[in-house]
Amino acid sequence: MYAFLPRELPEQLSSLTELALNLRWTWNHALDGLWKAIDPELWERTHNPWMILQNASQQCLDELCRDATFSQKLAHAIQEHRRYLEDTCWYAQQHTASDSARIAYFSMEFGLSEAFPLYAGGLGVLAGDYLKTASDMGVPILGVGLLYQEGYFRQNIDAGGRQHEAYPYNDPTSLPIQPTIGNEGAWLKIVLELPGRTLYVRVWQAIVGRTRLYLLDSNDLRNGAGDRGITAKLYGGGSEMRLLQEVVLGIGGWAVLDALGLDVDVCHLNEGHAALLVLERARRFMHKMDTSFWEAWWATRAGNVFTTHTPVAAGFDSFSPTLIGKYARDYLDDCHISLRELLALGRRDPADDDEPFNMAFLALRGCAQCNAVSRLHGEVSRRLFSDLYPRWPLEEIPVGHVTNGVHVPSWDSVWSDHLWTSTCGKERWLGTVESLPGTVSNSDDMALWTMAAEQRRDLVHYTRSRLAWHLGQRGESAQQVEEAAQVLDPNCLTLGFARRFTDYKRPNLLLHDPERLTRLLTDEHHPVQLIIAGKAHPNDEQGKQLIQAWMEFVHRPNLRRHVVFLEDYDIELAQHLVQGVDVWINTPRRPWEACGTSGMKVLVNGGLNLSELDGWWAEAYQPACGWAIGGDAPSDDMADAERLYSLLEAEVVPTFYTRDTQGIPRGWVQRMRASMSQLGPQFSSNRMFLEYQDRYYQPAIQAFRLRSKDKAELARALHAWQKAVATGWDKIHFGTVDAKHDGDRLHISVPVYLGEIAAEWVRVELYCALCDEHPAECLPMNSVGPITGAIQGYIFSITVAATRPADHYTPRVRAWRPDAFLPAENALIAWQR
Ligand SMILES: *Cc1c(COP(=O)(O)O)cnc(C)c1O
Repeated sequence: MYAFLPRELPEQLSSLTELALNLRWTWNHALDGLWKAIDPELWERTHNPWMILQNASQQCLDELCRDATFSQKLAHAIQEHRRYLEDTCWYAQQHTASDSARIAYFSMEFGLSEAFPLYAGGLGVLAGDYLKTASDMGVPILGVGLLYQEGYFRQNIDAGGRQHEAYPYNDPTSLPIQPTIGNEGAWLKIVLELPGRTLYVRVWQAIVGRTRLYLLDSNDLRNGAGDRGITAKLYGGGSEMRLLQEVVLGIGGWAVLDALGLDVDVCHLNEGHAALLVLERARRFMHKMDTSFWEAWWATRAGNVFTTHTPVAAGFDSFSPTLIGKYARDYLDDCHISLRELLALGRRDPADDDEPFNMAFLALRGCAQCNAVSRLHGEVSRRLFSDLYPRWPLEEIPVGHVTNGVHVPSWDSVWSDHLWTSTCGKERWLGTVESLPGTVSNSDDMALWTMAAEQRRDLVHYTRSRLAWHLGQRGESAQQVEEAAQVLDPNCLTLGFARRFTDYKRPNLLLHDPERLTRLLTDEHHPVQLIIAGKAHPNDEQGKQLIQAWMEFVHRPNLRRHVVFLEDYDIELAQHLVQGVDVWINTPRRPWEACGTSGMKVLVNGGLNLSELDGWWAEAYQPACGWAIGGDAPSDDMADAERLYSLLEAEVVPTFYTRDTQGIPRGWVQRMRASMSQLGPQFSSNRMFLEYQDRYYQPAIQAFRLRSKDKAELARALHAWQKAVATGWDKIHFGTVDAKHDGDRLHISVPVYLGEIAAEWVRVELYCALCDEHPAECLPMNSVGPITGAIQGYIFSITVAATRPADHYTPRVRAWRPDAFLPAENALIAWQR
């Protein structure tokens, strides 16, 4: 069953292996006591059951075998675990075997646990949360990613407040993973042909509840020293190294699915890093179905979904044409396409030979559907990608949005878990969540306020011990380490602020006026405390200076007890923070935060948000649930800082400290309840998954299957259609528009000359842009007959209610088929003017 087991366990304990190798322990804490019982110290440091098993002494194992209580607990645990795996899940209740589909989720990062560090930040945490949700809901999603030998850097801060980076080695044998066994019964290795050499890629797997995560790594002894390092660092190395990582992820990743015989309907690209997979998927389809490359492209594209995460063009990966040319040689021969055709897929303007090759553009062209990660980010992305759809109105650019969500059981505290269980039951996050707001809002004030107090106390204790540990690591004096045990106050209003230290996140907005912040923190009657964390990218000198500025502030003698900077922001720290803070602060510069998820993690625990109206908060904010700074316009630092301070002084602090005779701040608790119940379920990954399922996966599955069947007949027809319309498109032209009023109706007709293009290959529409009180409109026009003496010339007409002037309307012709995703797959359009 296991590919290699570093050690043999006594028979009675053998089920510990099954439990340790299933990452469900990252969100189900029922077993924490078992692992802690084996080795409390190692558990405290690693939270990695697989490490605990490997390091347990024989004597310890023998004792556990004799320990009846432990055996009983273990028997119970394994029973519960198998029930979780085998019970009929939400997805199985909705789908029969035949309409069930397999979805592969490709991501450069997966943030499942700090014990499994394959992530840098939000993108990875989202991917980890998504796999956990798939497991809980029983959705057949599998993950594909890279196994980094070093991952992202770990942060140390010296006594002078400077960040230093460390890259501890991820020993694969201490990670909760196993080699993937291929169909030949041996460790699966993928072979990729690179210029002049062969790259061997090892394949690992992690079990995440009911789902699997496949991880690729290039550290095979047969590879050259340089190639062995391809999967060393996450976001390290230069451009060529990044391209090689993306080759391993996209091309190698698809090869893994093929080698394991996993038939996948939908490929979901979490950001553009894995975009090369769209080429590999098409290439393999081409060979399997004996089509041309472009026919295969039409078939497979229907099954690809691209989620974009960046709000700025500079955030997209792009590569020089020479570099792409170097690695694409064999590929082009095999697919019978030219380098220019390939490069065109990654260019804004396909005809511009100087343009670099952009992975987001490739993803957009290779995926029939694309979405952004919040409503506001949808608007920003449509603008960002508009050049790829020339002459299309902004609102019709084919980029939708699915606002991110968080896997709630990964972020709730034991206290909030109790509270939610008592109102909504144990199964609350295993399916749809519509009924939750109503039920959780029944919890009473006393219960909510007690929960907040327990959570805050836990956070204060955690902060003290983490701070003491870091001070010890830095070699500080015993006295300083002891002082760490005195910081913070479990009854004090606690603000949390943790994020990447990069300019657009404005981590120092709160520090805009240090004296005003000091007064706020040290108020004699209504004190406030602040916990901060965050890393700056190793090359981001400005980000490092922002950290240093905070460190100087933190070290002021009068503030030592009120404000703490915790080093090395990671998932574990994030969990403690979001469980214990009263208010979570986020101050990005609008509209640069694509979504942001950290603020969603406090919702389940009754934490309140005070944030810029950017990303998710721009659509979530309601006065009853939290506080907002900024507005519709791009952010103004001065105005935002002023608003931030005045909100804290005039609203947040007074609401928190206004207590009734029972000591309860009723106004605060009311907000906690509103935020938990109204926003918690809405910003859960359950809601997010359901939106992907209904709006993206279902259409993708149907279209991909339809296009592939009967030797890909439909895909071939679609490709032929595209070629035919493209060839004749420039000849399309219009005659003069005729508009006649008839009472409250308006008749509009226009002669359209289609040249070589058949009328059923296009659609003629009447378009009207958004203007004043009128929304944008687009109405299909019908042919009322041929134009005498013209080949393929027709009169098209329509009657509309005469609510706006006739010259608001413009006829247009677009390439059209009901079975294509448009305009994503064919953006040809001609306007009458
Ligand atoms: C949730 C999370 C993030 C993402 O947070 P945002 O600042 O909201 O983008 C980053 N890092 C860690 C460790 C997280 O848990």
